[in-house]
Amino acid sequence: LILARTGVRVDVDSISMLSAFDVHRRLAQRLVSGRTVLIGDAAHQVSPIGGQGMNLGWLDATELVPIITASLVDGRDVGRDLSAFDQRRRRAAVTAARQAHLNMALGRPLPRPVLAARNTLLGRCNAVPAVHDTIARTFTMQ
Ligand SMILES: Cc1cc2nc3c(=O)[nH]c(=O)nc-3n(C[C@H](O)[C@H](O)[C@H](O)COP(=O)(O)OP(=O)(O)OC[C@H]3O[C@@H](n4cnc5c(N)ncnc54)[C@H](O)[C@@H]3O)c2cc1C
Repeated sequence: LILARTGVRVDVDSISMLSAFDVHRRLAQRLVSGRTVLIGDAAHQVSPIGGQGMNLGWLDATELVPIITASLVDGRDVGRDLSAFDQRRRRAAVTAARQAHLNMALGRPLPRPVLAARNTLLGRCNAVPAVHDTIARTFTMQ
């Protein structure tokens, strides 16, 4: 498949870093407790099949840095900022988890004729520029 789609021949025998993984969907009840903040997979896990858990974690960090900076550098009380952070990032995780779930459902194996029909349908939809752009924006979490 890789050869057909990319022109690159992968040497199967030389692949040494193989590992299995499970699909988990978890969301911590709260991300903030006093001065402790959960981010990344410790805060939320989404399906890796069609999911973007790492990006979600980086976005947590990006939002958290100015709050930590305000607290450390300016000495500001950031309790409210942390509560707002908690709500925003939990909402973002719920959205990302739903998206990952949908992606996983769309990509799941199917009997051959149904698979061909699904791939053709998705391929045609993706050829429509507006649909293509929306999918690209969604996958890159913009
Ligand atoms: C197969 C697969 C494919 C994926 N593909 C993508 C993708 O294409 N795009 C994407 O955005 N995301 C993807 N992800 C998700 C991404 O890998 C995770 O969301 C991301 O690695 C989470 O980073 P993290 O730093 O929060 O947690 P982790 O990567 O789990 O890091 C936590 C670290 O803490 C260490 N640790 C745990 N307990 C302790 C302890 N007590 N003391 C010290 N250290 C400890 C662990 O060993 C680990 O190194 C994929 C995941 C999988 C499984």
